[in-house]
Amino acid sequence: MTKRVVILGAGIGGVAAANELTKLSNGKTEIVLVDQTSQYEFSPSYLWVVSGTRKMSDITVPIERISRKGIRFQRAKVLGIDPAARVVKTDGGVLEADAILVALGAHTHMTGLESVAAVGHNLYSAEGATAISNLDGRPAGSRIAVLVCSMPFKCPAAPYEAAMLWQSRLKGPGAKTEFSIYTPEPGPMPVAGEKVSGQMVEMLTRKGIKYFPKHTIQGLTVDGQLDFGSSSAAFDHLAYVPKHSVPPLLVEAGLAQANAWVSVDRHTMRAKFPGVYAVGDCVGIPLANGKSLPKAGVFAHGQAEAAARNIAAELDGREATHKFNGHGQCFVEMGGWMAGRGAGNFYAEPNPDVRLAMPGPWNHLGKVMFEKLWLNKMY
Ligand SMILES: Cc1cc2nc3c(=O)[nH]c(=O)nc-3n(C[C@H](O)[C@H](O)[C@H](O)COP(=O)(O)OP(=O)(O)OC[C@H]3O[C@@H](n4cnc5c(N)ncnc54)[C@H](O)[C@@H]3O)c2cc1C
Repeated sequence: MTKRVVILGAGIGGVAAANELTKLSNGKTEIVLVDQTSQYEFSPSYLWVVSGTRKMSDITVPIERISRKGIRFQRAKVLGIDPAARVVKTDGGVLEADAILVALGAHTHMTGLESVAAVGHNLYSAEGATAISNLDGRPAGSRIAVLVCSMPFKCPAAPYEAAMLWQSRLKGPGAKTEFSIYTPEPGPMPVAGEKVSGQMVEMLTRKGIKYFPKHTIQGLTVDGQLDFGSSSAAFDHLAYVPKHSVPPLLVEAGLAQANAWVSVDRHTMRAKFPGVYAVGDCVGIPLANGKSLPKAGVFAHGQAEAAARNIAAELDGREATHKFNGHGQCFVEMGGWMAGRGAGNFYAEPNPDVRLAMPGPWNHLGKVMFEKLWLNKMY
């Protein structure tokens, strides 16, 4: 009888898993990919929408296109999961599965910070990135604040890249704009270690971007400034990284504790129920140094391939022995076709072994290739 794998979420993790399973199953397995939206937006490129080098239409593809690979796309909102019975409830009906792969990403929101959301642009959304790109190209003399609302957040480099890319757009006579980054982190990309953090601060300093670590936003002051408790900051334009949490339905399903992330075996990506795997931003992977594996597309991709191989093995009656090894890289876009690149083994002990390669056009090209792969080959 044909086995069925139900993949929840058609973002980076879900689609990487669907592609890998298709290669492995030779048409013997029914692969159902479920997502609430019909269009996939390549979110790493939101930052190029901010810098004016992309429009949303350049970075959006119809998910349905993936059916050319024999993957069945079902547009539906997942409402609940019974992981013990391997049953998924959606607003389009119920799906029974031999294996489930959960790749629902992180839930982003501004609960408790509604006043901040009302005066700023969400950097992690198409609307926010587009609104920033539509701002007057040269808000001369203005103060621009980039705010990280809480930790963890996906793509630890993104707020830094956003400030540098936005600034690169405003270069030229009369563009005396002041950029400041406010974040609760002790330093940029803290999981990568003090050396990488220091190099990032140096990059920002060279560009004249002010950096305010250990700043946790409380809301707005009565006169509309950013309120950090013991200090406040005025701004003319605000871009924020919203709060992140596990999708509530995964807590209800018993896959994650409240206020935590889905827990999995960090190598096989298996969750605590037989036949159920989870990958990407919805999972939390503690590291030996007490920090967590960053939430990033490269990790979602690597985890998805390992999980897909393990699902294929289990459906064939073999053991699930494929391992995600914790290796990954991320580009740090700086504007002017230049980018740095942080890469290494995040599972190394006692600390991740991560190096930041100095900025160059080749790293920028690497990020362009990453985008092209996703938009042209994966869907
Ligand atoms: C501005 C920005 C820049 C970034 N830059 C980089 C980068 O340079 N490199 C990098 O590696 N990563 C980068 N990332 C991070 C990367 O995009 C994420 O880590 C990655 O997308 C995670 O993949 P995922 O599959 O876990 O989740 P996602 O890709 O977010 O996919 C989750 C999917 O689940 C769907 N979904 C959620 N809930 C439901 C539901 N109830 N029912 C049905 N469908 C649902 C969503 O619609 C979505 O399609 C960046 C992110 C942002 C926002």
